[in-house]
Amino acid sequence: MARYTGAVCKLCRREGKKLFLKGERCYTGKCSIERRAYAPGQHGQSRKKTSEYGLQLRAKQQARRFYGIQEGQFHKYFLMAERKQGITGENLLRICESRIDNVVYLLGWSSSRAEGRQLVNHGHFRVNGHKVDIASYLLKAGDVVSIKEKSRQNDKIQAIIEANAARPVPKWLEISADRFEAKVVSLPEREDMTVPVEEHLIVEYYSK
Ligand code: SF4
Repeated sequence: MARYTGAVCKLCRREGKKLFLKGERCYTGKCSIERRAYAPGQHGQSRKKTSEYGLQLRAKQQARRFYGIQEGQFHKYFLMAERKQGITGENLLRICESRIDNVVYLLGWSSSRAEGRQLVNHGHFRVNGHKVDIASYLLKAGDVVSIKEKSRQNDKIQAIIEANAARPVPKWLEISADRFEAKVVSLPEREDMTVPVEEHLIVEYYSK
């Protein structure tokens, strides 16, 4: 599948907000948006009034980029969200949150969602004891995610876990004391999801 391979900080600058795509760097003064809080490119510093459509488009792009999801997949999630009971916008974000690459990041088993995706693809995780190496795998309440026994001794994985140990784990995930296993207690409520978007704009974008 085609994947964006350009400079990720440009994506944050384009959206005018932090999307936390680069791990630890995002929390330091080295963050590009702290230093250059304007859109990239020649006309990045000129102010433009954004149309209603523009706002909707930007909200959709921000959510997509925050989770690292391609357009086709994101639209598919929107259609799934529409079919579920409840608020479509919240359903959409909940689906994105329940992807295993996102959960791996939230548990501190990767420094970014992109790294989480790579580690999942490399087969380092289990769900209810079964190998899952598809980053878009959707977890549900009651699932138990764990790091594969052999991978627990992996120097890189140990270093990542150590580096991210202080990052708080959201309450809808229950991590074990040894930090190699976690249970999805329930799927997240809106207040548990930190994605910085107004999801109703995304619904309006796709409902045109
Ligand atoms: Fe780059 Fe992270 Fe800052 Fe975004 S939040 S601009 S990815 S350092």
